[in-house]
Amino acid sequence: MSDNCIFCKIARGEIPSKKVHEDEEFVAFHDINPAAPVHLLLIPRRHVVSLQDIGPEDAGWLGRMVTLASRLAADNGCRPGPEGGFRLMANSGVEGGQEVPHLHFHIIGGQRPWKGRMAPNA
Ligand code: 5GP
Ligand code: ZN
Repeated sequence: MSDNCIFCKIARGEIPSKKVHEDEEFVAFHDINPAAPVHLLLIPRRHVVSLQDIGPEDAGWLGRMVTLASRLAADNGCRPGPEGGFRLMANSGVEGGQEVPHLHFHIIGGQRPWKGRMAPNA
């Protein structure tokens, strides 16, 4: 937990968000500035800054997080199959384009034709 972290505050319910999933380990909610028709953010409740801070001991919960991301995409409007799909993105560190220093997966989809090669806000 980090007192001044906005995503910790969202996880604790201290900042409002449009949540689509909550469990003991993870929270998912709509991005406040969506880059596509589906744009969710999936975070661990635990304050981890980025993928630069994870190691082999984190493989278990990270595996659960990726699995959950796939299910949330399917349940929130990303079409199934190779003609549908979604982008899963974790900007990490300043040179990775990260603005909020609490690990999060962007789940982006539901747009055709696909727009933008890199950043969600590009
Ligand atoms: P980053 O650039 O760190 O990968 O992405 C941060 C994302 O968090 C951005 O897409 C931004 O729109 C989103 N965001 C920032 N502040 C808030 C907030 O208070 N609520 C929600 N729902 N999304 C936020
Ligand atoms: Zn945090």
